[in-house]
Amino acid sequence: MVNSGLIKDGWFCEVNDNSFPGQGLALKVEEVLYHSKSEFQDILVFKSSSYGNVLVLDGIIQATERDEFAYQEMISCIPLYAHKAPRKVLVIGGGDGGVVREVVKHSSVESVTLVEIDEFVIDLAKEYLPGMACTFGHHKVQVKLQDGFQFLRDVATRERYDVIITDSSDPEGPAEAFFQQEYFELLHSALNDDGIVIAQASENVWLNLGYIQNLVKTAKAVFPQARYCYTTVPTYTSGQLGLIVCAKDKSVNLEHPMRSPSLEEQSQLRYYNAGIHTASFVLPTWAHHQIYR
Ligand code: SAM
Repeated sequence: MVNSGLIKDGWFCEVNDNSFPGQGLALKVEEVLYHSKSEFQDILVFKSSSYGNVLVLDGIIQATERDEFAYQEMISCIPLYAHKAPRKVLVIGGGDGGVVREVVKHSSVESVTLVEIDEFVIDLAKEYLPGMACTFGHHKVQVKLQDGFQFLRDVATRERYDVIITDSSDPEGPAEAFFQQEYFELLHSALNDDGIVIAQASENVWLNLGYIQNLVKTAKAVFPQARYCYTTVPTYTSGQLGLIVCAKDKSVNLEHPMRSPSLEEQSQLRYYNAGIHTASFVLPTWAHHQIYR
């Protein structure tokens, strides 16, 4: 169970007995900016003493102003630079706006559709995370307020995307369906033949290796290629977050960028580079064996 007691003695504590029993992550709180329940989840926004404003959904940290770029750049750039010319992009979840902010920077991208279930997250991000929620009005961006799973069910027979990014919250709550085989099947149907999907894989090798093993197995039952990589984010428990990347075409090389960033794109990147793209797929020996055996 996620502990929603949330703040004690001036510290926000993220504790989750299912995903990481016996350990937690704490940030010092300067001020609670917002705390309420939407139709879908518990939403907390607070100002921390060292990571800027922090968005928390159902007791789990989603983004902090200081380290969010490590996640947003990697979940966006890995599929976009592994693709030869991505034009049409779909983002499922992502209501804080950080992923869309990254995707619109890519000159080949013509359209980005963001499907977010909870309008409150978008509104709160505009107010408290303006550095992330800064491109909702961009001419390439279209926002749909609906369940991403249902959206994919509706469009999977008629729309095709080059890249689909699942920027969801963890599998407890409204994002539960995104970690199951039927979801990967819908992604497969909604993808062009040379398309790439990426999804946050919720956990990391230190905390949930068995879970990652199953997720990769589930993705592999649908896609000929499914690889696990990770980014480092100090405010996610254990400092890492996994991403699962899949392609319909076995010859697509997910682990190396197809293209280099343009000079303009390059100047806006703070975390991603070609070296870290490749390195993010390299796993410690024990974890590699467990995931791919
Ligand atoms: N960086 C993040 C993390 O820590 O995993 C994800 C951030 S983003 C805030 C996650 C978003 O997914 C939330 O805004 C949440 O409302 C949205 N979401 C969850 N379930 C969804 C669903 N079924 N359809 C669409 N959006 C969903």
